[in-house]
Amino acid sequence: MCSTLEIRKEYMLTWIDVIKFANNGSPAPDRRVEKTEDEWKAILTPSQFQIARLKGTERAGTGEFCERHEPGLYGCVCCDTPLFDSRLKFESGSGWPSFTQPVKENAIKYEKDTSYGMVRVEVMCNTCDAHQGHVFPDGPEPSGLRYCINSASMKLIEEDKTEATAILGGGCFWCTEAVFQRVKGVEKVESGYSGGTVKNPTYREIGTGRTGHAEVIKITYNPEVLPYADLLRIFFSTHDPTTLNRQGYDQGTQYRSVIFYRDEDEKQTAEAVKVEMKDYFDDPIVTEISPLGAYYPAEEDHQDYYNENREQPYCRAIIDPKVQKLRSMFKDRLKDEI
Ligand SMILES: [Zn+2]
Repeated sequence: MCSTLEIRKEYMLTWIDVIKFANNGSPAPDRRVEKTEDEWKAILTPSQFQIARLKGTERAGTGEFCERHEPGLYGCVCCDTPLFDSRLKFESGSGWPSFTQPVKENAIKYEKDTSYGMVRVEVMCNTCDAHQGHVFPDGPEPSGLRYCINSASMKLIEEDKTEATAILGGGCFWCTEAVFQRVKGVEKVESGYSGGTVKNPTYREIGTGRTGHAEVIKITYNPEVLPYADLLRIFFSTHDPTTLNRQGYDQGTQYRSVIFYRDEDEKQTAEAVKVEMKDYFDDPIVTEISPLGAYYPAEEDHQDYYNENREQPYCRAIIDPKVQKLRSMFKDRLKDEI
C-alpha cells in the first residue's frame, strides 16, 4: 500500500460530482482530438485499439502498470493528454491500476454504462473519448473514489520538471504578489484564497476572518531556476513570520503567515527552511505549514495590484519598502528590469 493521500490538489472530486457529470455532462476539456478509426489503428497496437477505441477490458492482473508506482503522470495512450498522477495511484487489489482522482477536474469524461446488466460509470479521456475504465464509490478517503483503469489505455509520461506552483500566505496578497513578480524563475503570480471552509469565497467574506481563508498567492515558477527552498527563503525574508495573524496594521487570520505544501518533500523542505530562518529573527517564527486544500483565485481587481496602483498610499507606504528590501537582499535573484 503506498501512501497516496498527501495530494497535490486544488480540487477534489467526490461521488456526487461523478454522478452529476454522468447525468448532466462532463466539464469541457481544454482541447479536443478527433481521428478516424483507420488513423487510430495506425498509431495503436491491436490490444490498445481494442480497449481504448472499442471499450474492451484487459484481464485482471495482466496490465503493465498494475505494480508500478514510480513518480510520473499517466497520459491517454491515444492523445497523450495527462489523465492521472502516480501520487494518486493506490493498490486496490482489483488487478487494475487504481487512482483516487484524475489530474484535473476536466481531464475525464463520465458516462452512464448499463452493459452486462450493471449500472456503472464509464470513464473516458475527455480530449479524444478513449475508453479508460470505470469509476466506483469504494475508494479510500478523502475522495472515496476508485478510478479502475486499463493499463493499455495509458502511457507513462515524463513529468515536466520546469514548472511548479507554490501557494503561500504572507499577509496582504498585494504585497507578496509584488515581491514575487520581481523574482527570476517566477512565471506568474496570482492572488487568491486558501485554507478556509467556504467554497468560492469573496474578498468581502474572507475579510471578516470567519471563513478561515488566508490571503495567498499562487506562484508558477521554474524549480530549475528557483528551487523551492530558495523561494521559501525569499518568502520568509520579505514578510514578518513572527507575528501571529498579523502583518503590520493588517490583523486577522486572513493575514496569517502560512505555507501550503503539496507533498511530503515540500513539507520537509518548508520545515527545514523554517528552522534555518529562525536565527534571523528575534521572536519565534509562527508560520503555519499545512497541506494544500482548495484554492480560489481572487477577484480581477486584486490581481497585479501593486503594478496597477503604485501611487496609492498603501502601495507607497507598505509595499514599496518590501520591494526595496527584496532588491537589497536578493540582488542576484531579481529579474533584470521591472
Ligand atoms: Zn485521449
